[in-house]
This record gives sequence, structure tokens and C-alpha cells, in this order.
Amino acid sequence: MRAEIVAVGTELLLGQILNTNARFLSQELAALGVDVYHRQVVGDNLGRIVRALEIARERADLIILTGGLGPTQDDLTRDAVAQLTGRSLAYHWPTLTRWEAFAASQGRNVAADSGKRQALMVEGADPFPNETGWAVGCAFEADGTHYMLLPGPPRELIPMFQKYARPWIRKLLGEENALHSVMLKFAGIGESAVEERLKDLVERQSDPTIAPYAKEGEVALRLSTKAATEEEARRKIAPVLEEIRARLGDHLYAEEDIALEEAVVRRLAETGRTVSAAESCTGGLLAELLTRVPGSSKVFKGGVVAYTIPVKKSVLGVPARLLEGADAPGAVSPETAAAMAEGAFRLTGSDFAVSVTGVAGPSEDEGKPVGLVFVGLAGRDLAARAVRLQLAGDREGIRLRAAKRALYELWRVLAQR
Ligand code: AMP
Ligand code: MG
Repeated sequence: MRAEIVAVGTELLLGQILNTNARFLSQELAALGVDVYHRQVVGDNLGRIVRALEIARERADLIILTGGLGPTQDDLTRDAVAQLTGRSLAYHWPTLTRWEAFAASQGRNVAADSGKRQALMVEGADPFPNETGWAVGCAFEADGTHYMLLPGPPRELIPMFQKYARPWIRKLLGEENALHSVMLKFAGIGESAVEERLKDLVERQSDPTIAPYAKEGEVALRLSTKAATEEEARRKIAPVLEEIRARLGDHLYAEEDIALEEAVVRRLAETGRTVSAAESCTGGLLAELLTRVPGSSKVFKGGVVAYTIPVKKSVLGVPARLLEGADAPGAVSPETAAAMAEGAFRLTGSDFAVSVTGVAGPSEDEGKPVGLVFVGLAGRDLAARAVRLQLAGDREGIRLRAAKRALYELWRVLAQR
């Protein structure tokens, strides 16, 4: 099965927004075992969308369109698909009814409002209800080519894809052909180190396949196999997964595609515990990562950005003898990292505290090299301690890696208790 993605929207061509939907869809299609040889971006113009589809149907079995399903006159995706395939458009009644009730409740003129255009779909197509917006998606077959229409906003496209589009494609592929996969996420270790430790498995692999996966600031591996059912796929993947767990269990923080901060927040929530942060070189990034996760308010008590020595002393209570004087260990030291964590722990009354202090660069500090970072940990029943890291990269890279490593050290502590 060969698919082509057609992203519709003049704003994409003008560079006003990034075509993240194409990236998302490409990744999802790869995971389903569907080949993508071409992608197109086309503006909000009926003739050019039709032309793009004519080209796509020459070389693809499945054309996935994203965007142009909004309420305005420049949203022309449905019209272009209808014109190309000779189909008509019809309302998806549940969406229309829901929309009319909403519009009436807003005091809008229901008859005249263009919003109801979003309830239009290709007649006879399989509807994909939009549970996070109004524009209904759909999929159908015409003259041997399959068409799928999905909304532009990622917060509508992603849930719709997961709930309706993916099962639709799976069915199209036939169950036996479907590719099942498990994503493994690692932290506290580099990509090459992961590959090194799994070298023989990777070299021997045939089924399931093991593929490294590009993720910003994270290491991911995807195990994939073709199977008739989820059950069978799980059975086929199990021995390899078991082997990877045995070799890299200390670093394997999730067996699904979630960020490290999400794994940390979940673990804290499951065990009913809280954490706080004390940050120097990461300037609040650690708190930022944690608070990105929905539900983090239940587990993250707060953080202190203690960027200068006076604030480390006065707010976090780091002893002056660690920070001042010729033989003091200094701000970037295991002693200070541990004292910072201890300070956050005391200040907030959280169960755990994590700290970061280091040299993000571009130049050295206190005679300490760029990339030298200490992560401190403290908590109830956890004597304050520190982990030394030597990180590579530019200032931004070091800050991100330092925050992620702090999360990893915390995750390790949490995994044990
Ligand atoms: P539309 O369905 O064309 O009205 O798109 C509505 C909004 O969805 C756009 O203004 C963008 O914010 C977003 N959007 C549309 N297409 C894409 C895309 N390919 N990637 C990411 N966001 C998109
Ligand atoms: Mg648009």
C-alpha cells in the first residue's frame, strides 16, 4: 500500500505555520507499514488542489488530505475531492445537529452561518466524527483510489486519526498485513550506547524488526512485527522485549511513546508523592518540562530558580562555606547540588526534590569546564546526594540535557521505591 499526503493551506506555503501534520501522518503511516513516497503542499485554490490530487492518484493507493475543512470560503478540500471523483457532498447529520444546537446557544443565525459547512462530507463516505472540533473527516474509495480527508488543526487531526483513521487504514490493509509496533523510550543513555548494547540483537533481527527512531533529545526504538491480532503481535515481540529489558532496564523508562517528564509525573501520581525543583543553569527548564504534563499540579509542588550565589544562600539555604572562599567547592559542585535539593525539599515539604547546577557555557565558570553539571537529589528517607555529569553540546543543548538527566535521576529513584 502506497500513500501520499496532501497538506492544504496557503499559510503552509507562506511559511506562517509548520507542516507538522505531514510529519505526524508520515510517522503513523510508517508505523502501519504503509509506504509514503511523496508528499505535497498546496494552497487554498480549487484548481490547484484538484491538480495535486490528479498527480497523487497516479502514484498512490491512499491519498490523505489535511486542512481546508474549516468554515470559510477558502476551505476547499471537500469541494476539490468531490469535483475530482464526481461525488456530491452531504451533511453528516449528527455533526450538523450538534453544530446547530451549539450555534443557536451562541445566539448565531443558524441558517446563514457558514459554520455548518464543517458538517459537510463526501456523500456515502465513512464519517470520522470530530470530537475536539467541528469539521467532520471522512474516507472513501473511488475508482480504486482511497481518499481520506482530515482537519488541519493538530488538536483535531491527531485524536481523529487515532480513533477513526488508523482503524480504517488497518482494515484496508487486511488484518494479516497490519504492522504492530511497540515504542521503547530510553533516558540517561545516548543513542549509540543503546545500539552498542543491542548490537547482536539488531544484527540478528528479522521479525520483529528493531529500528532506532529519531526523537529530539530522547532515544527511542521501535519493535515491529506483522501479525493478525494484537495478541499474536505481543507474543512475537515478547522475547526480544524481555532481552532488551534485561540489558537496558535501568534506562528503559517507558514501553510507549511518552516523554520522560510524563513518565516521572505518572510515577509520582501513581504512588501519591510530590517533587520540587531547585535550578541554577537550567533556569526553570526542569519546572517547565514537568508542568507541560497535564495533571502535574498534583505532583509538582514548585521550584526555585537560584541563579546567583546570594539566592542559593538566602532562599535555598546553601551554606556559605560551600560557596565562598578559596577552598569552597563552589556553585558547581556535588556539595552545592545536594544542598540545593535539600533546600527545595525543606522549603516546599515535597517528598522528593531535585536540583541542577552546572556550566551551560559558552565559557567556563569558576574554572570548571563547559558541560560539567551536578544533579542533586533529596527526599524523605533519601539522604541528599549528587550525580556528576559531563554533557556535550552548545548552551541550549546542555541546558536541555541537564534538565532531562535530572528527570532521569529522579525517575531512577522513583522506580526503586
Ligand atoms: P484549515 O483546516 O485549513 O482551516 O486549518 C486550520 C488550522 O489548522 C490552520 O490555520 C493551522 O493552524 C492548522 N493547520 C492546517 N494545516 C496544518 C498542517 N499541515 N500542519 C500543522 N497545522 C496545520
Ligand atoms: Mg485553511
